[in-house]
Amino acid sequence: MEERTIRLDLCSSRKEKPKTQQLEFGRVFTDHMFIMDYSDELGWNDPRIVPYQPLSIDPSAMVFHYGQSVFEGLKAYLTPNGEAQLFRPEKNFHRLNRSNSRLCIPPIDEEFAIKAIQQLVALEKDWIPDAEGTSLYIRPFIISTEPYLGVAPSRHYKFIIILSPVGAYYKEGINPIKIAVENQYVRAVTGGTGEAKTGGNYASSLKAQESVAGKGFAQVLWLDGVERKYVEEVGSMNVFFKINGEVVTPALNGSILEGVTRNSVIQLLNHWNVPIVERKISMEEVYQAHQDGVLEEAFGAGTAAVVSPIGQLTWNDESLIINDAKTGNVAKKLYDTLTGIQYGRVDDPFNWVVKVEENCEMGLRASV
Ligand SMILES: *Cc1c(COP(=O)(O)O)cnc(C)c1O
Repeated sequence: MEERTIRLDLCSSRKEKPKTQQLEFGRVFTDHMFIMDYSDELGWNDPRIVPYQPLSIDPSAMVFHYGQSVFEGLKAYLTPNGEAQLFRPEKNFHRLNRSNSRLCIPPIDEEFAIKAIQQLVALEKDWIPDAEGTSLYIRPFIISTEPYLGVAPSRHYKFIIILSPVGAYYKEGINPIKIAVENQYVRAVTGGTGEAKTGGNYASSLKAQESVAGKGFAQVLWLDGVERKYVEEVGSMNVFFKINGEVVTPALNGSILEGVTRNSVIQLLNHWNVPIVERKISMEEVYQAHQDGVLEEAFGAGTAAVVSPIGQLTWNDESLIINDAKTGNVAKKLYDTLTGIQYGRVDDPFNWVVKVEENCEMGLRASV
């Protein structure tokens, strides 16, 4: 463990910030970014905050050819008294290291990464929008940069964190979505990379998404890659069903991505004494529950939407309307509680929130 300083190279002028109404997802980036390099000889080195700018990377860099990369997604929120805070960032960096391990990328120091985020967010605090439901999206990612076309783990990497102010996911209140069950394509299989947050999983999901988008569906419901029988995820969210008073979510099986929101939903339901089980659940069972009139709610859960109710589920040629295509009570209560905690409006009984230190100097020194 050596003491490391995050080097600062600040912009001479600041960009104009977008107006709240114009905020989209992931199109505008703040003035600065964090970068750290890795080489076999030096390990992770030279952490720095520099002006947001294009990278100069060799065309033969391995990431362009074989996709050895991982990413994370979390947000900074502004509280009613103007403080910036993060939601369970340690979970994201723990997961980043699990993704790293799967992709043969050297691990990062999780505590140091949180320090880096704190310092970057503190510096860019004016970029956190304050309107209802808005936030500053944080995108940490690692790319393999060794210029080499051989198929092997890269010996050079860059760990980068960029920030993007984002608008409210629900601009006109929570809106239940239409979902098509995907029978042809699969997202992941056990033993593959489904548990890792890696770009390739997203690249291979585009086709299914595109094929249903034209038919009015927001996303697909992914089934398992072997039997096409068991429910796995919805779009890029984890999925929950409330059947006859009990909430069911697919058990982690090696192909499902373990969401921070999923984990938080499970903890909250337990806290409220709402029955929640993690187990295999087949599409046939979901269908039968609907036929029997006991499929009470279905919803996705992830950082972007927090909770996304499913109003219609189309399987083959049949469309199941769930809870009259309205947001269910459990989904609503989870949404209100999770966003309440994230924005510092309600108690945080689990100590999930991490305040962003206002004093930048503090974050300047951290060990790597
Ligand atoms: C990121 C992601 C999720 C949601 O994870 P959160 O930590 O809750 O944002 C779910 N499924 C997939 C495939 C993902 O990539």
